[in-house]
Amino acid sequence: MASPRSVDISVTGRCNLKCGYCFYADEMTELADLPTERWLSFFEELGALAVQTVCLSGGEAFTRPDLFELIDGIIDNRMRYSMLSNGTLISEKNHRSLLKGETPPEAGLHTGQHRRVMRRDTQQKPAAG
Ligand code: SF4
Repeated sequence: MASPRSVDISVTGRCNLKCGYCFYADEMTELADLPTERWLSFFEELGALAVQTVCLSGGEAFTRPDLFELIDGIIDNRMRYSMLSNGTLISEKNHRSLLKGETPPEAGLHTGQHRRVMRRDTQQKPAAG
């Protein structure tokens, strides 16, 4: 069986928002995230299988304090990465860090209409730089 070219992974069930239509908001936040070492080991396996791209999503991937360590693990195993994010935790600082990598990511924002349907108690402003 051939290896997949790309793999989509949810690195966390946590999200800083609680969109009304999203099952993550109610069900996934209770689950524990895999530790950094488990993901790094997984990226080694994916690299050995010649996977080319890993898409990081959540929940919200930027809620992980070790996000850039995970990204380095992907790059170290000769893979590209992309991200799916709600964009609200992207600051000047982490934006610069994303662009510093040898392989800047493809980025996707899953904003769409979600500000309109967010629960009122969770509306947040974008993170300050
Ligand atoms: S931003 Fe995305 S992951 Fe977070 S609650 Fe909304 S739809 Fe779900």
